[in-house]
Amino acid sequence: MVDVAIVGMGYVGVTTAATLAHIGHRVYGLDIDVGRIELLSRGKAPFYEPHLDELLARNLERMHFTTDYGEAIPRADVVFIAVGTPSLPDGRPDLRYVEEAAREIGRHLNAERFTLVINKSTVPIGSGNWVEAHIRRSFSETHGEANGRFAVASNPEFLREGSAVSDSLYPDRIVVGADDPRAREILRKLYAPLVAQDFSPPESVPRPEHVQTVPYVETDTATAELVKYAANAFLALKISFINEIAALAEKVGADIRDVARGIGLDRRIGTSFLQAGVGWGGSCFPKDTAAILATGEEYGLKMPIVAAAREVNFAQRKKVVEKLLGELKIIKGKTIGLLGLSFKPNTDDLRDAPAYDIARELLEKGAFVRAYDPVAIPRAQREWNLDIEYRKSVLDVARGADALVLVTEWKEFTELDWTEVARVMRTPVLIDGRNALPGKVVQEAGLRYIGFGVPAHF
Ligand code: NAD
Repeated sequence: MVDVAIVGMGYVGVTTAATLAHIGHRVYGLDIDVGRIELLSRGKAPFYEPHLDELLARNLERMHFTTDYGEAIPRADVVFIAVGTPSLPDGRPDLRYVEEAAREIGRHLNAERFTLVINKSTVPIGSGNWVEAHIRRSFSETHGEANGRFAVASNPEFLREGSAVSDSLYPDRIVVGADDPRAREILRKLYAPLVAQDFSPPESVPRPEHVQTVPYVETDTATAELVKYAANAFLALKISFINEIAALAEKVGADIRDVARGIGLDRRIGTSFLQAGVGWGGSCFPKDTAAILATGEEYGLKMPIVAAAREVNFAQRKKVVEKLLGELKIIKGKTIGLLGLSFKPNTDDLRDAPAYDIARELLEKGAFVRAYDPVAIPRAQREWNLDIEYRKSVLDVARGADALVLVTEWKEFTELDWTEVARVMRTPVLIDGRNALPGKVVQEAGLRYIGFGVPAHF
């Protein structure tokens, strides 16, 4: 068993905390947000993430939550940094939270023994050294010379919101970057139960059959940091690529869904991340693609592929409005209903969600915008300053509307009976922003179905 402290109780921090407790470690979860810590102490995640409450509740005896660095850090063998790294206006990540965390960690490290500090936040390449410098400085201000008392490693996180628990218990791989041999040894010990899958899976998140052991990639710190950015940039450009091909499919009358399947079955390509639509958003792809470009720029390196992936992606959001204009001709005064607000299903995360840009543009064009989302409405009401009318159900949004846009492919929408929806709308037009619906069924239910790169007739 390893004593672990995790600084930052967001999506990554809480999921990591619950996972490490589940595989047998003792975990101190730390955040500066008192409300979050109160909720967590009662076994409740401060955001919506399937199965996370259950994993917390089940392992609460090995977890302790606090706002006090002095309580958590000196007791830990391993301290994770998992605070946010949002984008600055110029695309570089804002490292202020990482810096604050590093300073506080340095001040509270146990001077009597070795502690490993692991950076799990997504930070620019080279940040390992920078974090170490901050810890070293505040450690020496408090305790004197820091020689050999701590090391900094990198351990990027690949979990996806919406399936964070499963991704964390059964990851495709674990990547650790450490230059210090003691750090490598501690990391191996920490992750041994995950690598060997030596723990009993929670009932509601069973181990997938193909997962026997988890590949463990051990490298230097800078390489691990680059793995994270390269992974996200690649996934982002995969979606942008299919969106570019979808635009061509629309011109030539081809069906992008069959194109995606036709190319994806080639194992070198793979079927996932080939769904055309309004494109990617969320707290990671937009900021991480901006950050890798900014890093390239620092070295005078142009990265045209990543830049193009961004350009294609953000144009997709405008295409929704173009499609609506093509259908309705006039948007001013029309009522448009949005189905889904979060950037993807099974999360209430609204960071850089396409729904925001779509709603804003529709409002600017004089439309009335209504929206329904199964979980994200309370957050949208708090975080978005847009004149959206939030409704309680799909039918409530559809009643009297001139068009609907499916923005997030929640299961509730993909399994809907569209006949009733078509009946209550003023003009039954549906833009499927995720190519997630069975177009033929929707059309037969009486709606005019418009996808991305999908032929108009079935
Ligand atoms: P988040 O915004 O959900 O949570 C960050 C938490 O850190 C907040 O609770 C905040 O109160 C806390 N915090 C800020 N400053 C602090 C301080 N000085 N001391 C203690 N707590 C502090 O962030 P997230 O989505 O969990 O992301 C964390 C990092 O992980 C980011 O770098 C992100 O890029 C990366 N990441 C995120 C995901 C994801 O899907 N969310 C996936 C992989 C990697």
